[in-house]
Amino acid sequence: MNPNEDIYLDHNATTPVDPEVLEAMLPYLKDVFGNPSSIHAPGRQARRGLNIAREQTALIIGANPEEITFTSGATEANNMAILGHQQALLPKRAHILTSTIEHYSVLNPVAHLDRSGLADVSYAVVDRTGIINLDQFTSALQNRVTLVSVMAANNDVGTIQPFAELADIAVLNGAVFHSDAVQAVGKVPLDVSRFPIHMLSFSAHKIYGPKGVGALYVKRGTYIAPIVFGGHQESRKRAGTESLANIVGFGKACELAYNRLAADSAAIGALKDELENRLRNISGVTIHGTAAPRLAGTTNASFAGIEGEALLMAMDLRGISIATGSACNSETNAPSHVLRAMGVPTSLARSTIRFSIGRTNTLKEIRQVVEILISILDHLRQ
Ligand code: PMP
Repeated sequence: MNPNEDIYLDHNATTPVDPEVLEAMLPYLKDVFGNPSSIHAPGRQARRGLNIAREQTALIIGANPEEITFTSGATEANNMAILGHQQALLPKRAHILTSTIEHYSVLNPVAHLDRSGLADVSYAVVDRTGIINLDQFTSALQNRVTLVSVMAANNDVGTIQPFAELADIAVLNGAVFHSDAVQAVGKVPLDVSRFPIHMLSFSAHKIYGPKGVGALYVKRGTYIAPIVFGGHQESRKRAGTESLANIVGFGKACELAYNRLAADSAAIGALKDELENRLRNISGVTIHGTAAPRLAGTTNASFAGIEGEALLMAMDLRGISIATGSACNSETNAPSHVLRAMGVPTSLARSTIRFSIGRTNTLKEIRQVVEILISILDHLRQ
């Protein structure tokens, strides 16, 4: 997977496709070309592949297969949950409570509804550790909130929200609960049948599946209006011929992640501990979110006096791929809104890089990365 000995530590942005996932997809790019909605034999064969993938995808979150709607990714799933909720409520007005640390695929549809005068919007704030303040969350809910949308785990810092508790409070207050679980699925155990979660978004390319496919779980009995109109696919929730090979790959990726969850998080967690122990010996380093429960493989660290961007580029020249934060935000060069929401000063937020460790990384790679990082920091500080 690393032909040039390059080291990839940006798995929160995307992961490579697992060879077993590719194997599963290939027949659907070659021989099984039928339209799953066609009645003839090739159509039925395609439908079988779609059904198996739906079962595999449901299993990883403890859902029923018919509660899974395939989408083009989590961005679409988040838009579908938020806009679909607002449309379904009409002519009643939606009131959405989200948090200040969400991904832009939640923040921007919510802001669009706010700007267009179609919904009232409130924001839950986080404390210094990146965890939602439960008192403020609970009091924000008193104002007839119809939808809560809060992420399960954060892509920048890796903090894991107490989403079971948040879901309980939201539902007790009469709201529908949606969670962007892109960074949590396959990394932390998640079972929607155990919590009052109405909708949950996830994506294939964060768990060694292909890009361009994701899913929205919609609990039986929860109604959202479609936002893509056309044919009757996906139980009329999302029109358009299914991206079958991608969906089959997504199903396989979910199956692998489900079976490997405990082993992967233990191995990745050990690499993260090694990384953080070594980083702590570097002067001027701050590791963010350490006081909160965090994903096994995410380390967000600031290096005082250093531009994160300069560090990223110097590391890239040495064959190491890291990020300054969310890839979706990399063009703006703005400091992470997540760190800002956690009260990190702008200058420190600008000095930040994110390491996200994955399944194929090794101890040797982690040690090599820190050695190279130290030499680059020495050079930049001179
Ligand atoms: N939510 C989070 C937390 C993410 O990390 C991402 C991917 N950057 C998305 C949503 C969007 O997912 P996709 O790339 O599948 O649209």
